[in-house]
Formats: sequence, C-alpha cells, structure tokens
Amino acid sequence: MEFLKAISSEEALGVIDSFAADPVKETVSINDVLHRILAEDAVSHEDIPPFPRSLVDGFALKVKDIQGAKETSPVFLYIQGEIKIGEAASVELEDGKCIYLTTGAMIPEGADGVVMQEFVRTAGDAVEVTKTLHRGENICFQGEDITKGKIVLQRGRKVTAFDVGLFSVIGMPDVPVYKRPVAGIISTGDEIVSVEEAPPFGKIRDINGHTIANILKDNGASCIFFGIGKDTVDSIAGKLELTRECDLVIISGGSSKGQRDYIADAIVRLGGEILFHGINIKPGKPTIFGRLWGRPVFGLPGHPNSCAMVTMRFVLPLLRRLKGEEGYKEKRVPGILSTNIPSTSGVEEYVKVAVREVDGSPYVTPIFSKSPVISSFVDASGYIIVPEGKDGYEKDEKVEVCLFE
Ligand code: AMP
Ligand code: MG
Repeated sequence: MEFLKAISSEEALGVIDSFAADPVKETVSINDVLHRILAEDAVSHEDIPPFPRSLVDGFALKVKDIQGAKETSPVFLYIQGEIKIGEAASVELEDGKCIYLTTGAMIPEGADGVVMQEFVRTAGDAVEVTKTLHRGENICFQGEDITKGKIVLQRGRKVTAFDVGLFSVIGMPDVPVYKRPVAGIISTGDEIVSVEEAPPFGKIRDINGHTIANILKDNGASCIFFGIGKDTVDSIAGKLELTRECDLVIISGGSSKGQRDYIADAIVRLGGEILFHGINIKPGKPTIFGRLWGRPVFGLPGHPNSCAMVTMRFVLPLLRRLKGEEGYKEKRVPGILSTNIPSTSGVEEYVKVAVREVDGSPYVTPIFSKSPVISSFVDASGYIIVPEGKDGYEKDEKVEVCLFE
C-alpha cells in the first residue's frame, strides 16, 4: 500500500462529508428522548392552550363594565359565581357581573379581562374594582402559545429538556428519532494491554479505545469495543470481520505508512477501499479514511493526543451525519493569547489551550505537550487552529478557541 499524498483538512472533511449517510428512524418514549435527534418535524394537532386561561387569581369581567375604575371611584360588580380550575366554564358572564377564578382556570364566555384580586375589595356578593383593564388583560387566549398545525420543532434537532416539555404539551408520548449509530472500536499494537491487566514491563495500557468510545458516546453513538488487535494484517482483518453490524468503525494505532501499514492493508484485503491516507494536520497526519462493506472506517494514529484530536475534528462530523443531526454549530469563544504560538507553515495545527480570565478578559495559554502526554487534556478548555498558511500567532493576538464543551 502506497502512502498517498497528505490532503488538506478541508479536502478531508469534503470526502468525509460526501460519504453517504442514511439514518434510520425509530420511536422512543418521551422519557428516553433527551439528546436524541428528532427524525420528523413535531407538529401540534391542537391549539395550545386549547381554551382561554386566566393568568392570575382574580375576577373575570367585561372590560367595558369597569371603565374609569380607580382607587377613589371603584366600580361595583356582582359576583356571578366561580369557575374551578380544571373544570369547563359552562356559564356565560352577564353584564355588570364578574366570576371568580384562579390562575389557569378557563375564561367564561363573555369575559374579556381578569382583574387581579389585589385590585378588588369584596363586599358580600359584590366586589369593588379599583383599576381599569385593557381588553384581553391577564388572559392567555386559545392558540396563543401554539396554533393548530404549527411545526414546533424541526427534524434534525438535538432534543433539549425544554423540547421534551413541548412534546408533552402537544401530546406526543412517543417521539420519532433517528437510531443511534453503532460505532465499532478497535485498538491495535503489540505493546497495548487492556486496563484490566497488569502491564508487563515494556507494555502500556490501552488509552485510545476508552477515549474514542467516550467521545463518541458523548455525541450520541452506541459503542462496541472489539478488543486489542496485534500488529499484523491478519489480526486487524480478523477484528474488522467482527464489525459487520456496525455503522462506523474506528481503529487506532498502526495507521502510518510503510512496513507497519496494517490498517490500510487489512481494509483493502477485505475488499474495502482507502479514500484518503494522510491529512496535512498536526497532530494526526497519518489518518486513514476508507469504505468497507459500504460503511466508513477510520484508521487513527496511535498517539493518544493525535487520536483524540482527529476523533474530535474528523470523526464527529461524520457521526453527526450518521445520526441525522442538522444545524450543529461548533462552540467557539474569542480570547487573547498570553504568549506566542510558533507553528510550522504549510500544516494546519491544533494547539490545546487553557482559557482563564485576567482583568475581565479571556486569556488563552497554549498547553504544549509531547504526543503521548494525555494528561495535557486535563487543563485544556479547547484548542485553537493555526491555519496551513500561517507561521503561528503572536502574544496579544486575538484568537478563537474551539471548546471541548
Ligand atoms: P502507532 O500509531 O501504532 O505507531 O502508535 C504511536 C504511539 O501511540 C506508540 O507509542 C504506541 O505505543 C501508542 N499507542 C498506540 N495505540 C495506543 C493505545 N490504544 N493506547 C495508548 N497508546 C497507544
Ligand atoms: Mg502501533
């Protein structure tokens, strides 16, 4: 397998973006819908509220009956009765009268305002109203919140807690969502052992299997870990054979060129194709993207830092498409550099940074680390991108930080 010329990150994202993704629908209970991706527009088949409701505790009345009412010259109205909350208003309000109700109760026919009880003095079977109202005051009208037939939430949206409230108010106990993509994850390397094992001298515990799975889980995938493959094409092909049911496969380690090009060779041996091998980025250059049995496969560099960054920047955009998410926006915040950041021109570089506030301004400090130093993520709030054509940034320059969230 020949090492292909590294392509730009933009080209790589273009290839990833053109990979066919066909999310599948399923229905889940409103109790399990948080953070899932809505698969159909949510439409209200009713007016909300379905009947006019009072916004306050007080007396429903006809606004024309209390013209000029004020503290010093109140207007008398007879109390016609009471409408209890949760009951249908069966009477029609008569002229010169009012009806007692509480917040949320149905407004009776004939009433066009509700005076708060604070502005009323009761006197036997009548009240003195000490304030005028404008028409409709303290009433939430039928359909004022949501009109019948309205799309309240659009397909492709990641469901929030507030959205779940909306499903409830429009009467959707079951919600159509897209199935969670299933990601198959494989770690490789003769030196890698599972966290359950005590590593013999010379071996190290698997980091990438855990990091990748948790980045993807955090972003709505189900993950299956297929274990640790050896540094042979046979071993990796054997692991890949187990992933046939997965919607996406991510292998880490052994993605670079040359003698140890096991991932690319294993994909090709099983009948797959390599769509690109090498992105002009740092860290993460030896990244593979291919197609195997119609599904996307990533081969990520073994260095845990590189592996995590490539997962964030290149695997997640594909995952979002596989899960049917639309309109995602990366969270970015502006900041001021506290020190220079040197960078090699001709490569797009990702530099992890800490953001802290100094005199009310967000100061951005790079966290330089060697590739295997996974602990550098602990203090990082996110990273900045040094574009391919730039030699770096200078102290006090304004930058944008992509947040890890
Ligand atoms: P490779 O991409 O296989 O050449 O690996 C590059 C470096 O990352 C080597 O030092 C490996 O030991 C290390 N590495 C590879 N895979 C993992 C892993 N799953 N967890 C921790 N370190 C790894
Ligand atoms: Mg390796």
